[in-house]
Amino acid sequence: MSSSFKRFDSLAAVKETSNGSTIVKPIDIVRIFGENTLDMSKLKDRLPKPVWKELKKTITENEPLNQDVADSVASIMKDWATERGATHYTHWFQPLTGFTAEKHDSFITPNQGGGAIAEFSGKELIQGEPDASSFPSGGLRPTFEARGYTAWDPTSPAFIVENENGSTLCIPTAFASWKGDALDYKTPLLRSVEALNEQGLRALKLFDIDAKRIVSTVGAEQEYFLLDKEFYYRRPDLMTSGRTLFGAVPPKGQELDDHYFGSIHDRVINYMLEVEKELYRLGVPVKTRHNEVAPGQYEIAPIFETANLAADHQQLTMITLRRIANKYDLVCLMHEKPFAGLNGSGKHTNWSVSTSDGKNLMDPGDTPHSNMLFLFFCSAVIRAVYKHQDLLRAAIATAGNDHRLGANEAPPAIISIFLGDQLDDIFNQIKEGQAKSSKEGGLLGLGTPVLPVLPKHAGDRNRTSPFAFTGNKFEFRAVGSAQTISLPVTCLNTIMADALDEMCGMLEAELKKDADFEKSLGKVLTSVIKESHAVLFNGDGYSDEWQVEAAKRGLLNLKTTMDALPELINEKNVTLFEKYKVLSKPELEARFEIFIDQYFKTINIEGETTAYIAKAMIVPSAIRYLNELAAYLDRGGKLSLSTKGSERLAKELSAVLDELIDALDELVAQNAELGGDTELEKAKHVHANVIPAMIKVRTAADKLENIVADDYWPLPTYRDMLFVK
Ligand code: ADP
Ligand code: MG
Repeated sequence: MSSSFKRFDSLAAVKETSNGSTIVKPIDIVRIFGENTLDMSKLKDRLPKPVWKELKKTITENEPLNQDVADSVASIMKDWATERGATHYTHWFQPLTGFTAEKHDSFITPNQGGGAIAEFSGKELIQGEPDASSFPSGGLRPTFEARGYTAWDPTSPAFIVENENGSTLCIPTAFASWKGDALDYKTPLLRSVEALNEQGLRALKLFDIDAKRIVSTVGAEQEYFLLDKEFYYRRPDLMTSGRTLFGAVPPKGQELDDHYFGSIHDRVINYMLEVEKELYRLGVPVKTRHNEVAPGQYEIAPIFETANLAADHQQLTMITLRRIANKYDLVCLMHEKPFAGLNGSGKHTNWSVSTSDGKNLMDPGDTPHSNMLFLFFCSAVIRAVYKHQDLLRAAIATAGNDHRLGANEAPPAIISIFLGDQLDDIFNQIKEGQAKSSKEGGLLGLGTPVLPVLPKHAGDRNRTSPFAFTGNKFEFRAVGSAQTISLPVTCLNTIMADALDEMCGMLEAELKKDADFEKSLGKVLTSVIKESHAVLFNGDGYSDEWQVEAAKRGLLNLKTTMDALPELINEKNVTLFEKYKVLSKPELEARFEIFIDQYFKTINIEGETTAYIAKAMIVPSAIRYLNELAAYLDRGGKLSLSTKGSERLAKELSAVLDELIDALDELVAQNAELGGDTELEKAKHVHANVIPAMIKVRTAADKLENIVADDYWPLPTYRDMLFVK
């Protein structure tokens, strides 16, 4: 009797594909970088000078665009794209599914003479009209008003996606309903950039600094797992949910920490090199790659860019990681927790505020205590995060991220800020009145003359903080690996605009009373830090003491998505988004509805898949093995063989099998319940009832994995999946 699962065959297949090619094909980064994007320099070369000047104003100074410019750009865009083999174009947008969407149109219009002409007008460039009815709108757009518009975003360059049989020009666009409600992630992000610009310039003016624009800069570190395709297709849970719903943790997990920063295996490095090459060609400035903590886990990070570009490029990075994996017989898992018992994946979102000509306002310099501009902007961050913990927590609330936050490997669900020793000391001084000194980092001697003496950072790192200052930027570490960064960044920009607005107001009022700038500023900073310092925490965010301490400080601890998401639409946040014209109340409420629905659907699919795998795959394998044991007990007894041990085994197996079937009954019953008519009631039901029932099923099934004969077990195990490279 043999099982249908060919674990050993698949391992053999892996061995064959993992022998990477030995022909070295060096990547000429300088030559290929951006070759598939129509970036500013190419536009400048190809456009008539006056048109280029107009367009540049739109791109860099956000001036409105005129139709003649659009016609001109459309024409050179079409020429450039067709020269590069593109036959189609698409408006590329980011609906609230969290993925990107595209609908392709051909450039080529066949004419009656039997020929064809390539056409692409300014109108087609500026506006598209996909049938919007199948994208989530959260009630913003009833189906009978299915019309939706995409609108060209000239600030993000068009690019070409190549496939074996042809290429497509992709034009980054925003997506809105016919009434103008934002149905996407890009529109509010762009609006938040405007809000930050306005308040940032106001602040700079108070410091007597001239700047054209204030921008937010973002660099997102993407963590992911790679898995052999063979295993993926043998796991219905990975295919439907992106994570394993079953699987006992193997004896060798990540305990040895031998994978982190370890040397990268051939198949993986070949994959990474091709991903990077494709991203370079798309103008995505990827820079860093390394192994992560868990076996099979990796990271890729770019050089930071302005928020809107970074968000588009982050989407392209995810798309490229997924697409190229297929060529190497791998699957790229972007889920926050593909494997229980191993580290999950995050997307550390590095964020800062700078002037459009590159002055980073989060750069503390050597003596931060006397860097007034830095202190003002950094205090604004502290103020913003303190006041809007709820919003930041809601912005990262997803079913996947629930497995990660607070799981002693990722930041806790409590939002706090890590500043490091030096800044912590300075803000303590400010709280008490005035900052008079900066602790020095000093030099780090390594105890041997052959190694250089290294300058020591004045602030250490803290992996346990959800929001950490890391030298000249903040790193929002609680963002989930599968998420788009647009919403978290939109929130950061908006709360920063709010804090700057408030603090500028305070400073302006002080200056009216007393013309002394430094004195007035000192008063504002002290008052702001006094009020907000509870959010500053330098200690171990994983510890139980912090949970207690945070509660004492009155910080929020919104443990799960269902605790956090409702905060998105609380009165404070509605007012915030309306005030800075980032999201109207209906737009915000629509997002809440969509996120709740996504949560419900995710858990619902997991619940159904868990029941299916348990019932149709695991129970049968256990019964087959039990049957075999029973046959032996029967026959072995007749032959006077010892059956003592086998009998014990059979009893253990049948007891766990009972446990599994009981748990399964409960899960099936919960899956059939809806909990109510509204999306919110359904989401509450799956959270309160389906998740615990799933856990019970898994617990029993994972016990079986260690009892049932290996060749009967229907699923590739963690041991199989994680160590094949
Ligand atoms: P680390 O976080 O490991 O110290 P890096 O300097 O490599 O190291 O930064 C990680 C990410 O932060 C990168 O994507 C980087 O481009 C980004 N980053 C650096 N400076 C800024 C900044 N001023 N604004 C936004 N992101 C930044
Ligand atoms: Mg980092």
